[in-house]
Amino acid sequence: MNTTTLDCLIQQLVAFRDARDWKQFHNPKDLAAALSIEAAELQELFLWKQPDALDLDSPDKKERIEEEVADIASFLLLLCNELEIDLADALQNKIGKNADKYPADKVRGSSKKYDEYTHED
Ligand SMILES: [Mg+2]
Repeated sequence: MNTTTLDCLIQQLVAFRDARDWKQFHNPKDLAAALSIEAAELQELFLWKQPDALDLDSPDKKERIEEEVADIASFLLLLCNELEIDLADALQNKIGKNADKYPADKVRGSSKKYDEYTHED
């Protein structure tokens, strides 16, 4: 497993950005928009295809998916850097909140949103 840290990746992304004088374009609104656009590009790879026609074993398809995932991660990390959000802390906090919101013994096997099952117990 690659042991590169998020901080190391952020440093590389910032160096890439600064070498091109692109910080001027990287405000939170546009970084959030870019993140959403890259997520849409990932979805486009699956759009209108039946599950058996996705060709996920194809090296070319896998590479295209990896590139879009990397684009998403790049803009997420740049957004976190711009807003001084520690992604690892934010993610751990959210996992904790979700564990409270979705107790495993209560929601196991259900795809309902938390507010759809709280009245069933
Ligand atoms: Mg892309």
